Amino acid sequence: MSKKAIPYGRQNITDEDIQTVIETLQSDYLTQGPKIKQFENEFAEYVGSKYAVAVSNGTAALHLSTLALGVKPGDKVITSPITFAASANCVRYCGGEVIFSDIDSSTYLLDIKKLRSLLEASPKGTYKGIIPVDFAGRAVNLELFRKLAAEHDLWIIEDACHAPGGSFLDSNNKQQFCGNGRFADVSIFSFHPVKHIACGEGGMITTNDEKLYHKLLQLRTHGIVKEADSFENSIENAGGKGSYPNWYMEMQDLGFNYRLTDMQAALGISQLTRAEIGLFRRREIAINYYKAFADCPYIKGQSGIVEGHAYHLYVIEVDNRLGLYNYLRENKIFAQIHYYPCHLMPYYKNIGWREGDLSSAEKYYKHCISLPMYPILSNDEQQYVIDTIKSFLHE
Ligand SMILES: *Cc1c(COP(=O)(O)O)cnc(C)c1O
Repeated sequence: MSKKAIPYGRQNITDEDIQTVIETLQSDYLTQGPKIKQFENEFAEYVGSKYAVAVSNGTAALHLSTLALGVKPGDKVITSPITFAASANCVRYCGGEVIFSDIDSSTYLLDIKKLRSLLEASPKGTYKGIIPVDFAGRAVNLELFRKLAAEHDLWIIEDACHAPGGSFLDSNNKQQFCGNGRFADVSIFSFHPVKHIACGEGGMITTNDEKLYHKLLQLRTHGIVKEADSFENSIENAGGKGSYPNWYMEMQDLGFNYRLTDMQAALGISQLTRAEIGLFRRREIAINYYKAFADCPYIKGQSGIVEGHAYHLYVIEVDNRLGLYNYLRENKIFAQIHYYPCHLMPYYKNIGWREGDLSSAEKYYKHCISLPMYPILSNDEQQYVIDTIKSFLHE
């Protein structure tokens, strides 16, 4: 029997990871150095996008995205209630209004039929954008979302924090990777230690839109521009003669310091080389869970085996969720709940959301529990988790 505590997710740091961070600490740059661009290029290649912008965390990635897309006070933006609060909060940072739309009870993702009804119930122009979430690592079919968004003039921010390497099959049966820039205006990722790639803190924005890319770069560093052909003040005013002096730069917009450091980027680069191996292992673990519970009537729903699923989480639904959660804890298995519906958080209740507004999300919350899922979970540990769940639920 395993006596080591088993969390629901954890990072995997190798000697190679540690070595690369040490080398960066000994180099000329701790931040704003060459590791950032390298990480951006390699990440863009991994997901198949044209551009990538590394930022300090996933929440900063969301905030910069809503800023770059021009969210203004009063703008209505739609997202899922079954997500980490940051997917919604980024709209509030810009003074926009969050509209939660219900999930599909079988995929746990935004229900596109309900979304269509919501959009069609109001005149065009009522909503500005949608933030679909690849919840648990299951890729949203963004081809369908893009079609719907185009009918209603909406932009799309894909929250792909759970799904680097995830994909869906498009209408031509072609694999479309999360964050590849084909359907979403921007996609965002997080490198928090429980996610697939760990930087400590860290985030990435991917896009195929050159204009948005430059806007994001500018907003990441205080809204400052360094290219002479975009300067607004005159050469004379800047103190130059014939051309702008070398030191000169302009703050043209109100931006932030949302930069990633070179140490974090070095760790990210090293982690990225193992992303596919990690994904493979996550899928093995998912298959083991699925098979173990396929014939158990007390399991009311589970993530199952889904092509392209990146399995950040493996969720099962049970009747006695609290009992199971506590029993697992007593046995040193630290399962987790993802998520308490965002619209019922006191902050969102205080601005008008109520229990009963989104019945599928609320029903899902009563039963869901996320089981341990991370590449270095051993087969023995997983078997222990499965046996412990069965021994509780059989009673
Ligand atoms: C982790 C996460 C975020 C935020 O990322 P941070 O790096 O923690 O700021 C946003 N959305 C989802 C779905 C997440 O899982």
